[in-house]
Amino acid sequence: MGLLTGRRALIVGIASERSLAAAIATAMAEEGAELMLTYQNERLRERVATIGGAVGAKACLPCEVTDEASLQALSAGLAAQWDGLEILVHAVAFAPAESLRGRYIESVSREASTVAHDVSSYSLTALARATHSLLRKGRDAALLTLSYLGAERAVPNYNIMGPAKASLEASMRYLAADLGPEGIRVNAISAGPVKTLAASGISGFRTMLQHHAEQAPLRRNIEAREVAQAAVFLCSTRSSAITGEVLHVDAGYHAV
Ligand code: NAP
Repeated sequence: MGLLTGRRALIVGIASERSLAAAIATAMAEEGAELMLTYQNERLRERVATIGGAVGAKACLPCEVTDEASLQALSAGLAAQWDGLEILVHAVAFAPAESLRGRYIESVSREASTVAHDVSSYSLTALARATHSLLRKGRDAALLTLSYLGAERAVPNYNIMGPAKASLEASMRYLAADLGPEGIRVNAISAGPVKTLAASGISGFRTMLQHHAEQAPLRRNIEAREVAQAAVFLCSTRSSAITGEVLHVDAGYHAV
């Protein structure tokens, strides 16, 4: 029996096989979870469906997190197949490329700030609301989001994603406080840098990886599967007393 046997998981944020969410889906399937995945738009449908096939997902549903109608359709699509939900993984972030390079004061427009906060932070609350009735019917439900150290420190080029991730972490704590009395836990993993599509949008990402590998206590970068293993733990009953937490999975970089 796996750590997640009998648990139903919705995973939001797969864009490619390199996505952290894809690694999480694989690890959760290996631990016995039943999965449904989402894809942002038609362009990604086939790619996500292929990953869904590989992890034995029950379905792949469309989900554009900035669109309330899309979230309502997702909620209905889930309810048509499941009468409860134990795990929601939120692995979504976006900011316009021009806001992820150069001086903070020059790169951050009002529009970039609004988009970054809407897609990368508010979407956690929007998804929690859209799945709330199912989560309440799930047993020992757990929500998980993915953050980065740029929420706590000013990281070159991360720019507007820093405030967006700080807002995401605060939302995680407010959701943990609000949903805790219903037995629903909410946590975040603050992951070290991993080369994915979203990461490639950050200017100087290669330098960031090199610096991280040189400075982190473990003297290396992390792998997506290490984030996935922590995700399995935080979404299993093994972490039953942990909520409102940001767990750093970054080879210790945050500590130095
Ligand atoms: P990724 O593979 O590019 O995943 C990002 C996901 O967000 C994609 O599936 C993307 O879909 C989706 N997304 C963006 N806008 C959306 C919208 N409006 N509606 C629905 N989905 C949307 O990159 P990743 O690195 O795995 O990122 C996953 C999470 O991990 C993000 O929150 C990221 O900030 C976080 N994280 C990543 C790292 C890292 O170094 N990679 C480190 C710490 C934290 P599209 O491709 O279609 O836009």
